[in-house]
Amino acid sequence: SKLLEVKDLHLKIEDAEILKGMEFSLEKGEVFALIGPNGCGKSTLAYTLMGINNYHPQKGEMIFKGEKINDLKINERAKKGITLAWQEPARYQGVTVREFLALGLKSKGEEVTEEKLKDALNKVAINPYQYLNRFVDKSLSGGERKRIELASLILMHPELIILDEPDSGVDVVALNNIADMISYFKESGSGILLITHSEEMLKYADQAALVCEGEIIRQGNPSDISEYFKSFCYPCAKEEECET
Ligand code: ADP
Ligand code: MG
Ligand code: MG
Repeated sequence: SKLLEVKDLHLKIEDAEILKGMEFSLEKGEVFALIGPNGCGKSTLAYTLMGINNYHPQKGEMIFKGEKINDLKINERAKKGITLAWQEPARYQGVTVREFLALGLKSKGEEVTEEKLKDALNKVAINPYQYLNRFVDKSLSGGERKRIELASLILMHPELIILDEPDSGVDVVALNNIADMISYFKESGSGILLITHSEEMLKYADQAALVCEGEIIRQGNPSDISEYFKSFCYPCAKEEECET
């Protein structure tokens, strides 16, 4: 059975229609990639699925493990096992890596141990001895914050994980970590919604869909979607619009 089903999802912000009937589903242990150019509504979809304030769909359904979640609050969705890794990982003034990771464990009602924290950091190739007492603020690079955020996700063992452009602002080394992380979550049975605007990321996906202006215009196996995405003058243009 499906882990997540999104049906005819519509969202307006003020008078602008941002999501226009988004529809797809994903299963446990599956990596489903949504690829699309900047501004097509990918992050908006991520916020809507997570239940961020003011991102309430006007129409359509979001169904998680058979249950409609449209009216659940963000923390209720988190408790059910849905997590979002932000496009821009947050900075927390005055919060150490240790405290930040402990929050992830506590949010699941789990005991905080040094062992668990170290283990999660090691999985993202961050040396616990050097980083546990650092602050999660601008003293860390974007790539480091991204990896620390991934470590916190490991501790939350989500059932559904939404990765919003995990490759943005990240160096090649961290990129390998993201690839490892995707396989790690997949093997542990999580479903992954992989949001990206680079076709490079599609090689990690089982299924892919191309999003244009708030809707999916094509869905299929990742290599076909990748070819389609690359072969267009502009990813969302119709074939005839590309002729010169
Ligand atoms: P993507 O993540 O695919 O780059 P976004 O979801 O961030 O796209 O944005 C989709 C569209 O919605 C853009 O045109 C953006 O300007 C608009 N948008 C996003 N958030 C808001 C907001 N809070 N208020 C008004 N417009 C917004
Ligand atoms: Mg963007
Ligand atoms: Mg975005």
